[in-house]
Amino acid sequence: MNEKKYRFNTRALHAGHEPDETTLSRAVPIYRTSSYVFKDSEHAANLFAIKELGNIYTRIMNPTQAILEERMASLEGGAASLALASGTSAIFNSIINICEHGDEVASSNQLYGGTFTMFHDILPQFNIKVRFFDPTRPNTLKEVINEKTKAVFTETIGNPKCDFADLSGLAEISHDAQLPFLVDSTFTTPYLLRPIEYGADIVIHSLTKWIGGHGTGIGGVVVDSGKFNWNQKKFRLYTEPDPSYHSMRFATDLGELNPIAFALRMRLVPLRNLGACISPDNAWLFLQGLETLSLRMERHCENALAVAEYLKKHPRVSWVRYPGLKDDPAHSLASRYLKKGYGSVVVFGVKGGKSAGEKLINSVQLFSHLANVGDAKSLILHPASTTHAQVPEKDLEAGGITPDMLRLSIGIEDVQDIIEDLEQALAKV
Ligand SMILES: *Cc1c(COP(=O)(O)O)cnc(C)c1O
Repeated sequence: MNEKKYRFNTRALHAGHEPDETTLSRAVPIYRTSSYVFKDSEHAANLFAIKELGNIYTRIMNPTQAILEERMASLEGGAASLALASGTSAIFNSIINICEHGDEVASSNQLYGGTFTMFHDILPQFNIKVRFFDPTRPNTLKEVINEKTKAVFTETIGNPKCDFADLSGLAEISHDAQLPFLVDSTFTTPYLLRPIEYGADIVIHSLTKWIGGHGTGIGGVVVDSGKFNWNQKKFRLYTEPDPSYHSMRFATDLGELNPIAFALRMRLVPLRNLGACISPDNAWLFLQGLETLSLRMERHCENALAVAEYLKKHPRVSWVRYPGLKDDPAHSLASRYLKKGYGSVVVFGVKGGKSAGEKLINSVQLFSHLANVGDAKSLILHPASTTHAQVPEKDLEAGGITPDMLRLSIGIEDVQDIIEDLEQALAKV
């Protein structure tokens, strides 16, 4: 299928798959197999030496997963992608696919709680230090880059404060320093934003959220733009013979596959040997989600804007953050990048602080009180006591997580029902 001539919505349904000659199955099949038969000894040896590409073992690749990967690469405008067990493993494997003991990462200070803990507490166990910057002010990135820095990381709409990262500004500073720019675009999805168009080298998603869209599976993906030059001395994992894979020098030994050295190394080294693989069943769930991503995102964005406008006018609400609100501090920056909507996460504070917030959470009926975002159903959470409870106070402040903050992930229900539920709960506060 010549994908080039198809537009986004069509590719969300078709990219990477055509009915196979044997079964003629229209839907993507789930290939539930751990391993694949070699045709003969030469075939087996060629596969291991990547003289020939093909399936070996499902920890490394699987045909259902491969369709998901091709579809995600197509939707993001990337050259290749790799699906993994979770968004968390997608981030961790990306970092260790670049950094060694003694290296540093520069990261946005507005992060998903689990990512913050990984960067702040776990990477230091491997002697990888993370220095934090403000993603809305690219100059603060300049201040934390030094000769040990090997990668720059940001989210698009920061979780949970809802600031928007100045992607072009951050990309320019990263590239001036010859560093790869990694963007976690979970909150925006390729429907709202394709970060590669603004200079991202690597795009990461938690598939668990809007892409899956139904709160049914955990998964992650890493999309390689194929544009970053890894053939620089400071990227030792690419320029020197790799003892963990046939002494291959990934920056130079892959022939025509060299542009996707990052994605290929990630599959052949961290995924193969650390094992955070996606299950074929979950890969299938995310393909199913992608089929309706555009339709759901339209409704998510429309509903979230209506809810943000409603809350803004409510006398018991002290503040609201949603990048789609015209007077939101993130609005002008976000509007430079987002043309179809501003996502479905709305955060706000209720008058009366933390205890009033608790009362509100205990009073909602339609909203589910749980730790997730991006479900088709509306969700509510108090970040300071749950997802971000492990973040030290000074970093909470820098990340804009106030004790009174409530986070909503607005679903695709009838918006009047969502608003009526908030109305009755706010009346009890
Ligand atoms: C959920 C999330 C993650 C982690 O993904 P999992 O699939 O839960 O491991 C990372 N980044 C962002 C922005 C997220 O929302």
